[in-house]
Amino acid sequence: MDEIGIEAARETERVSDLYRRYVNPGRFRLASLMSLDKIEAEAKGCIIKTEDGTEYLDCLGSFGVFNVGHSHPKVVEAVQRHLGKMPLSTRFLLSKPLAELAERLASITPSGISYVFPVHSGAAAVEGTLKLARASTGRQEIISTHGAFHGKTLGALSASGRDHFKRPFEPLVPGFVHVPYGDTEAVRQVISEKTAAVIVEPIQGEAGVVIPPEGYLRELRALCDHWGALLIIDEVQTGLGRTGEMFGCDHDGVAPDLMALAKALGGGVMSLAAFVGNERAWAPLIEDPYLHSTTIESHAAFAAGCATIDVIQEEGLVERSRELGARLKAEIEQLAQTYPDVVGAVRGQGLMIAMDFVEAGHGGVVLADMIDQRILVGFSFNNPQTVRLEPPLVISEAQIERVVQALDHAFAQARSVMGYS
Ligand code: PLP
Repeated sequence: MDEIGIEAARETERVSDLYRRYVNPGRFRLASLMSLDKIEAEAKGCIIKTEDGTEYLDCLGSFGVFNVGHSHPKVVEAVQRHLGKMPLSTRFLLSKPLAELAERLASITPSGISYVFPVHSGAAAVEGTLKLARASTGRQEIISTHGAFHGKTLGALSASGRDHFKRPFEPLVPGFVHVPYGDTEAVRQVISEKTAAVIVEPIQGEAGVVIPPEGYLRELRALCDHWGALLIIDEVQTGLGRTGEMFGCDHDGVAPDLMALAKALGGGVMSLAAFVGNERAWAPLIEDPYLHSTTIESHAAFAAGCATIDVIQEEGLVERSRELGARLKAEIEQLAQTYPDVVGAVRGQGLMIAMDFVEAGHGGVVLADMIDQRILVGFSFNNPQTVRLEPPLVISEAQIERVVQALDHAFAQARSVMGYS
């Protein structure tokens, strides 16, 4: 090991020790088990470099955060412009980047959506939609779906659909009803004049990229209109080009009353989320602008949001997601035919792709082998038998090919470790 290698190893040991003692030994153990106990040092586009010089191809994009790639120069430059001047807002005076971000969001979101409330996480964005749905309808019931993932604060968790994450925190917020995802008939059975809102993801991400039947959102829209309820669409993971449209709900041509946005909105540079809504949903906030509030607002984060939307449009990333996603999915489907004993269904829309494994153990081997080949892919919170690919939308064709070849190797490895069934 050379001088730099020795220094990197020493630093890794020091940081590991700090993690074990002061961050969370359980979290460190998981990183260590996956051989991911390395210090991330820099990242550009789809490549992440650790302090010891190892390079990873990011094929996960932090579950939809890095749509424009890592450290996109336009986003970084937009943020830097504000850092030396005034990074955070007083919230009493006006923020130019907030106004400009709101205008951009109104121009790319479905018709009728005009107002924006900035927050800091997907869960906080979902909380805002749930609160506004109740306040603007004067009703309490919220219909959500099995397998849903909306975040881990109490309200968002109440809307989520996996008991494992809910049970230790009960009692959760009352008034939530869960029905099977993709099943409008099930919604019809429970929706009534007491329903404040129906909340859904256009594609369920954490459930393992579950795609509903075509027209699902349109039918939910009609049911909500009939009963005077609001339709909330959670675009935290599917938003900003991920699925091959700007928003997942664009596939169905549906305009929700409220939408939750996060992850990619900060351009992979800043933490930025928002809930957005139409006139009806926003009425309580217009009457009392401090009915819901949060203290920190960042000019720098809003500028990152503006630059991110510009990059997505200027670089044609929505179309890129659609085209490269279709190609990657087709190549994985072809591989799946060679490994029918390992890979089950392959699902995806745009660059949001998942594959099911015949046995849960296959997924673990594939994940480990991909990491071994220096490619990051992801598990699914609500479906342990599934591995997900959500690379930055700027991924190159050569990098896609590298991923396909690596998957071929990983599937073979899974077959040899688990045995040919
Ligand atoms: N909603 C969806 C659809 C998500 O996928 C996530 C996170 O994965 C969230 C909400 C919660 O976002 P955050 O982790 O930023 O709170």
